Amino acid sequence: MSDRYLAFANSAAGRRLLRALGLPTPVRLERWAAGHARVLDGALLLAGDGDLLASVLGFAHRLSGERYAERPDRLGLPCWKLAEGPRLKALVFDASGLNRFEQLSALRACFQPALKGLGKCPRLVLLGRPPESLEDPQAASVQRALEGFSRSLGKEVRRGGCVQLLYVAAGAEPQLEGALRFFLSPKSAYVSGQVLRLAPCTAQVKDWTRPLAGKQALITGASRGIGAAIAETLARDGAEVVLLDVPAAEDALAALAARFGGRAVTLDIRSEDAPHRLVEALPDGIDILVHNAGITRDKTLAKMSEAQWDAVIEVNLQAPQRLTQALLHANKLREQARVVLIASISGIAGNPGQSNYATSKAGLIGLAQAWAPALGERGISINAVAPGFIETQMTAAMPLALREAGRRMNALGQGGLPQDVAEAVAWFAQPGSGAVSGQVLRVCGQSLLGA
Ligand code: NAP
Repeated sequence: MSDRYLAFANSAAGRRLLRALGLPTPVRLERWAAGHARVLDGALLLAGDGDLLASVLGFAHRLSGERYAERPDRLGLPCWKLAEGPRLKALVFDASGLNRFEQLSALRACFQPALKGLGKCPRLVLLGRPPESLEDPQAASVQRALEGFSRSLGKEVRRGGCVQLLYVAAGAEPQLEGALRFFLSPKSAYVSGQVLRLAPCTAQVKDWTRPLAGKQALITGASRGIGAAIAETLARDGAEVVLLDVPAAEDALAALAARFGGRAVTLDIRSEDAPHRLVEALPDGIDILVHNAGITRDKTLAKMSEAQWDAVIEVNLQAPQRLTQALLHANKLREQARVVLIASISGIAGNPGQSNYATSKAGLIGLAQAWAPALGERGISINAVAPGFIETQMTAAMPLALREAGRRMNALGQGGLPQDVAEAVAWFAQPGSGAVSGQVLRVCGQSLLGA
């Protein structure tokens, strides 16, 4: 569905008028398109003082052709100065060396000038050490303080900018490249204010142009919307895709499968024999499992029927659990498999009229957290992606006022696209993303709901 306000705000006349009226002017976000030569087109500033910067320096030339240091004679790079430019496309600040409260002023010292020198849709990433891994209470508190800083910065940065914080455990440094390829590129256009933890992981991406080459992926609810975008993106990254949807979607599903060189499976995941039939449909097993199929049956709890409650819990929560369990029992989830559950920010913040849906989506987040330790023993990761307002048939059906509120109530002032969710799933699906498990990544433009 088209966003007319966004289109108007990005026209010359519209921009002038909205500014004169003091109304927000959301920026049209840059997104990843085929043919991108580099992770980011523009200057990358490397700043901060921790020991993670040395790891980043080792691969930074593969991210950007223009690299700068914050101070002269640092890292063998030219020093970036606000007065001289160029405008920054990205900034990586290594805060892992901060362990005293007074050192937090380094954040202000670096980001204050940098904020004035940012280009369009800039990407800012802070690196730290997991606070829970530090014995010294003050050092742990300083690292925890980074969350407040990065989330506030996400709400202040303009021009479509995004800010994230990555806590990197000792030994997880080799997985920084995969994470920064996602968070510094337009692939994370609609992801901001997020905090993730990277742990050591033995698997590695071999070819960054096709990071999922040789992998088999199954996506449920793949005939349209977010599921179709996930299938397309995983296929773009080299995976062989199996698209699953309800029998009624057979034609659309078959057409998409043919387009992506994949296979279609029609199955109602709510049916009694769905686990058995899915196992039969996957004789060789899979490496990537994406539970995307989901439904809404919105009503306030006072008016909600038993059928509306049950349908949502069964499709959104019970089916992913039953299917995952069956695939595990039948040994169809290969070693180093990647499981991704599509949750929702409703499951984090709650939403009136969606008690059934929010319950199911919060339950999915619980599933990711509960399964992670046991699956981790086989190198399998499981994570949840929680979309905010995404432009799909599901949100097009919302009443106008609710739809407009959903679109604007986030730091980027607009809805996301199915591609934005798909890019996050594709990153979680990579071999090296075993570094992340039992976690939730919101793709919501830093929504004000449940922030
Ligand atoms: P969508 O357009 O409604 O697509 C979902 C697909 O799943 C449909 O093809 C649907 O088929 C299928 N499905 C439903 N029940 C099924 C079943 N029992 N067995 C097999 N397939 C089934 O939804 P979407 O907007 O792309 O959303 C995809 C996922 O993202 C959902 O889990 C949703 O909750 C989540 N999400 C979406 C948004 C958003 O803003 N759009 C926000 C947060 C989270 P039918 O035609 O039969 O329904």
